[in-house]
Amino acid sequence: MLLGCIADDFTGATDLANNLVRGGMRVVQTIGVPKKQLSGEVDAVVVALKSRTIPARDAVAQSLAALEWLRQGGCRQFYFKYCSTFDSTPAGNIGPVTEALMNALGCDFTIACPAFPENARTVFKGYLFAGDVLLNESGMQHHPLTPMTDANLVRVLQAQTRFKVGHVGYEDVARGPDAIRARFKTLKANGVKIAIVDAISNEDLMRLGRALGDMTLVTAGSGVAIGLPQNFAGANQLRAEEATELPAVSGYRAIVSGSCSFATNTQVLDYISNNGQAYALDPLRLAAGEPEVARALAWAVPRLTQGPVLVYSTADPEKVQAVQQRLGASDAGHLVEAALASIARGLVDAGVRQLIVAGGETSGAVVQALGIEALRIGAQIDPGVPWTASIGSEPLLLALKSGNFGTPDFFRKAFRQGVGR
Ligand code: ADP
Repeated sequence: MLLGCIADDFTGATDLANNLVRGGMRVVQTIGVPKKQLSGEVDAVVVALKSRTIPARDAVAQSLAALEWLRQGGCRQFYFKYCSTFDSTPAGNIGPVTEALMNALGCDFTIACPAFPENARTVFKGYLFAGDVLLNESGMQHHPLTPMTDANLVRVLQAQTRFKVGHVGYEDVARGPDAIRARFKTLKANGVKIAIVDAISNEDLMRLGRALGDMTLVTAGSGVAIGLPQNFAGANQLRAEEATELPAVSGYRAIVSGSCSFATNTQVLDYISNNGQAYALDPLRLAAGEPEVARALAWAVPRLTQGPVLVYSTADPEKVQAVQQRLGASDAGHLVEAALASIARGLVDAGVRQLIVAGGETSGAVVQALGIEALRIGAQIDPGVPWTASIGSEPLLLALKSGNFGTPDFFRKAFRQGVGR
């Protein structure tokens, strides 16, 4: 293990892992801090926490536990990954976690950079842009948990930490690694411990990556990870094609979809209109105590020999609203998640070995029901969604798709991509 990463949420962890794999690193993502060390060839590990919006004290404790596990695994460099919209409040958690990791590592300087130009997140003069507008005009000012009302990241981070926050401007980033390192030195001499870094293109991230070769701790969104694998390439001859290799797995194929996002609605329609076998789960029948899980499995299992099956609760906003009015949004969510997780469990018990799950929360519930602790990250199906393989004696291929990701033909394309048999 060369690079040890701590991500503050699950889909963000996959996004980071995906960027490292694209750079030629062999990556495993763990769900929480594993009890044992991993076996097998791996260059980078991403520990996925759920620490973005929990109390700062808990986020610090979980991040330190992850750090300790990564250190024991032999990692040389560490990466704290947060959202590319810098989701946080004055109470945390980016500042407190960064401070705690720096203290634990005895490290006196780091960066903070959520830039991910491919996803339209850029930092210029210390201000974060989402698309063409400042962060605080992007809709993020209305976020229910982490409203971002200021786009100036130096100010935002300074409110969360006792450490002095500074800035590396675009003029230095554009000049390359030496200029960036020189700026780090000046900032350090002025007592700065965390530097917000400007970046507006992938080339900027590659230049920045070079300058981070000997930095013990990097804090960033997933974008900065694009520039890091080049630093390890010499020693380990990383090769992208090897990095995406997953174990050969044969078995039935299935899709479980609990996402009601626009993209997923389109994907479900596309699958059905191309003669895909599909079963719609009815949340109201579920709430009435009807045996919907058993019914779905009784429908699905005999059909597995004929091709992939889709079980979905995916519905358009009007239908979802009607269900939520009857059951309450949170209760409806948990009920459907639990049912889909049981269905996924039943499908795997019936011999499914390639499973697509649509929905971030739904994926969390499914992974938990399947008892999966770690995933090896494979080739990307669509940006941000790779095939993965569970680690263990009988690997399962999984594609965990958060709501709005993927093209309309995502389900068909994922199976066409030819992982597994
Ligand atoms: P996304 O990634 O699109 O946000 P999630 O799985 O994270 O998808 O969230 C979708 C939520 O909606 C889940 O809690 C799920 O259980 C719930 N849900 C799914 N289908 C329905 C439905 N038909 N009516 C109400 N809620 C639903």
